[in-house]
Order: sequence, then structure tokens, then C-alpha cells
Amino acid sequence: MQKKDLKKYLEATGALQKELIDTANFVREKHVSKNVYFRGIIEFSNMCEKNCFYCGIRSGNLKVRRFRMDFSEIKECLEFVKTVRYGSVVLQSGELTSRRSKDFLLKIVSYIHERFPGMGVTLSCGELDYEFLKEVREAGAERYLLRIEASAPKLYKALHPEGHSLKARIGCLENLKKLNYQVGCGNMVGLPGQSLDDLCADLEFFKKMDFDMFGLGPYVIHNDTPLASAENKKWWEENKEMIFNRTLNFISLLRIEMPSCNIAAATALDVFRPDGRVMALKAGANIIMPVVTPKKYRKDYLLYQDKPCIDEDASLCAKCVVGKVRKAGLQPLLQEQGTALHYLNRQNG
Ligand code: SAH
Ligand code: SF4
Repeated sequence: MQKKDLKKYLEATGALQKELIDTANFVREKHVSKNVYFRGIIEFSNMCEKNCFYCGIRSGNLKVRRFRMDFSEIKECLEFVKTVRYGSVVLQSGELTSRRSKDFLLKIVSYIHERFPGMGVTLSCGELDYEFLKEVREAGAERYLLRIEASAPKLYKALHPEGHSLKARIGCLENLKKLNYQVGCGNMVGLPGQSLDDLCADLEFFKKMDFDMFGLGPYVIHNDTPLASAENKKWWEENKEMIFNRTLNFISLLRIEMPSCNIAAATALDVFRPDGRVMALKAGANIIMPVVTPKKYRKDYLLYQDKPCIDEDASLCAKCVVGKVRKAGLQPLLQEQGTALHYLNRQNG
């Protein structure tokens, strides 16, 4: 699609938005069917060495009560995932680069590989070095999710402190591809100062890098972060509708431009509307990521404000998400890993 059309559709509402979403749905059915796969997400630690300006668990936020789940607690989460028959898990945390943290991650991945051989494993633990990514790939992690956040250098710089490097993040994504991971990327839509050109650049970047999966979502303000200036708070409150629509439109455009990829319906969409994820599924997403983090840790893993489901038990989420998929008129497929068709096609040359 040409840039001028991309821009037009990114801003679409009403009839034009409906046309876009209908097209995305048509493309989805043709390429990846009506199936929706489940990834139980275990947010196992909120400790982070980084200090991204938008994120609630950034190292500089001293109000956060830091935690790391015990191995036995993670085991319980995995048993739960098996019981509710989600086909895969995502292990997510802040970015920790110590050998101790890496060993812990290796221990979990090896355990899953041994104890639950059919379960897909995705890591989402930030930028880690090539050697470790190789090690943990060999231990059984075959998927990795690392959002670029914003691919336009100026915007990336405005969102991160000194020492956080766009180049290094791209380097990490390249390493993941080299190691033959199924690589997931994504961005935040609706960031203060983000232009339509910036979003077009993200789409261009995703296509150029030929990623297999996407986990993209709306920017949601968090009061205890540098990005939540009085001006940005006002702007965010006044532009919620635009941010929500733009995220849906971005999902639809991505489905049209990269038809065989997996695209997740971000939980953050439910901050804007209770049926936010249902709408994302209708707009072209084919993955849903129910939170399986134990209730006692949920309120300490607030990347953004007003995160949904923090008072809920994982068992409630399990019923709820299957209902959401059905509500979107799609087919919930439990017990299947749901490997991205895009990845399978890449393997077959
Ligand atoms: N530390 C890892 C993974 C955990 S953060 C990493 O950064 O890659 C997971 C994602 O949360 C980030 O990629 C970011 O896109 C998202 N996130 C953080 N703060 C957010 C906010 N205020 N609004 C929306 N998404 C946010
Ligand atoms: Fe840490 Fe990820 Fe939050 Fe950045 S976005 S502060 S790396 S948890």
C-alpha cells in the first residue's frame, strides 16, 4: 500500500474504518483461517535494569514493590496453563542481564521443555546477548518477543534515557533472526509526539525485518513516569478515542500487509473499552494472551495505568478469554502451539 493510503487508513473512522477492518478480516480468513491461539503470559519478575520513560516498572520508579516469582510458583502457573489447555506460554519480565537471572531463565525453559514437551515457549525479557540467546534457544525457547517500541530514531530517543540504544535493539532483533527464533516485534501506538509518518516507518521496518509475530498495543499513560507530564496527561485523556482507533487500524493494516503473521490482541486495548481485545480480534488479530501471573503479583506488574484483570484469578481469565474469541465470531483453538504460518513459510524457503 502506498504511504498516502496508509496514512488515510491509520486515521480512518466510521465507514472507512469498517472497510479497512472488513478487508483485514477477509485477508485473515484467506491466509490464517478463523483460528485464534492462546498464550498464557507469566509476568515472573518486575525487576528491570532499564529506565524507559513510558514504563511503570522502570528502574527509576521507587514506588514499585519489586518481586521475582519462585521456581515453585512458576511451576504452578505452568500446571495451570496445562489444565486450561493454552498451547503456549510467554515468560515476561523486566530486563535483567546478570548471570543469576539468565540461569534462572534457563532453568525454567529447560523444565518446560522436559515436563511439558508440547508447550510453546516465548520469551519477552528485553535485550539479551547473542551467546545467551543461543544457549536458551538450545534449551527449548523457540520464540522471542521484543518490541521496537518506535523505529523512528528521533521518537525512540525522546522515549528513552541516554544509554538505551535503538541500534542495539535492532541488533538484538537481528541476532534473534540469525538464531532462527520465531521473532515477534511491535510498537506502541498513540505515543506523545508520534506522527503518522512515524507509524508508517514502523510498518516499513516490520516488513523489512520480515518478522513472524506481532504484539503491538496502544500507549497508556502511567502517572509515575517522566512521560506523564501535565501536558501529556491532558493530551492523552483528550485523545483516547484516537489512540484506540489508530491501534485497531494499525492491526488491520499489518494483517493486510503481512497476511501470514501472528498478531496478538493487546490487553492494553481493554483499558479503552471493555471489548477492546474483541475488537482487535475482529480487526485481524489471531492471538490472545491471557495473564496467568498469580493474583498477588499482578498489582506490582503495572507497565501502564488501569491495567485490566489485576483483581482477577487466572481461572477467571481463562473462561473470559475463550468467551472473547467466540464473541469476535472466531474459533478458539486450545492445546495448539499456533506457530506463525509466516515462520513455517520461511523455513520452507
Ligand atoms: N522488559 C521487556 C519486556 C517487558 S515490557 C521489554 O521491554 O521488552 C513489555 C512491553 O510493555 C514493552 O515492550 C512496551 O511496549 C510495553 N509498555 C511499557 N510501558 C507501556 C505503557 N505505558 N503503555 C503501553 N505499553 C507499555
Ligand atoms: Fe524495563 Fe521493559 Fe519497562 Fe523498559 S519497557 S523499563 S525494559 S520492563
